[in-house]
Amino acid sequence: MNRLGIMGGTFDPIHYGHLVAAEMARSEFNLSKVLFIPSGKPPHKDRRDISEAVLRFEMIELAIQDNPAFDISALELERKGPSYTVDTLRVLRRTWPEHELYFITGTDALREIFSWREAEEILTMTEFIGAARPGFDASDFLLQVQQEHPETQGRIHYLEVPALAISSTDIRTRVKRGLPIRYLLPEPVRHFIQQYGLYTTEGNVF
Ligand code: NAP
Repeated sequence: MNRLGIMGGTFDPIHYGHLVAAEMARSEFNLSKVLFIPSGKPPHKDRRDISEAVLRFEMIELAIQDNPAFDISALELERKGPSYTVDTLRVLRRTWPEHELYFITGTDALREIFSWREAEEILTMTEFIGAARPGFDASDFLLQVQQEHPETQGRIHYLEVPALAISSTDIRTRVKRGLPIRYLLPEPVRHFIQQYGLYTTEGNVF
């Protein structure tokens, strides 16, 4: 069976850490494609704190344009209401019936998975790849999950991604303080941030 990677996140903004994580996951887990799906309305966040979905979408398009194995979906942007992962997975299972799904996201997000809507159901629909920042120790979390949810055995994987020393929060803070962000993200994305004046005011920084 083919394998489809789903790169879920807010991507405000997308940076090289995300791109390296997606490429490492593609290669390590033999994924035929990685589909970036920016959250429209993350269920656990205050919407006022996040850049407009259309801007985050355009930055991803600019960032992935030269990788034929990467694609983007507006699935969560077009759907009304909070972006629950379970709803997204249901659509993807219908659209990609011949594919096994691998949901790639940050380990910080993954640690909260049992608070997500229909978490147990989600774990039957997709395997998870947690992209870990350097120094993140996954062993405690994995042990706890295996003890409390033995059915997840072998379905949650970890990938250490040194490039994830880069973070969206840090990039937003740097822009606000007038510090350089060159080499932290693709140049077209940096130009886009400059052009639209993103992250320069209180309202769109955090
Ligand atoms: P977040 O809280 O913004 O991010 C948590 C951490 O993970 C941050 O350090 C972030 O780094 C990192 N991260 C996020 N996405 C990543 C990715 N694809 N690859 C590598 N690192 C990543 O989390 P989020 O972006 O809102 O949520 C992550 C995913 O989980 C989304 O697809 C979201 O829809 C899903 N989720 C679903 C539910 C639910 O269904 N109830 C609840 C929560 C989250 P950066 O800031 O540098 O990106």
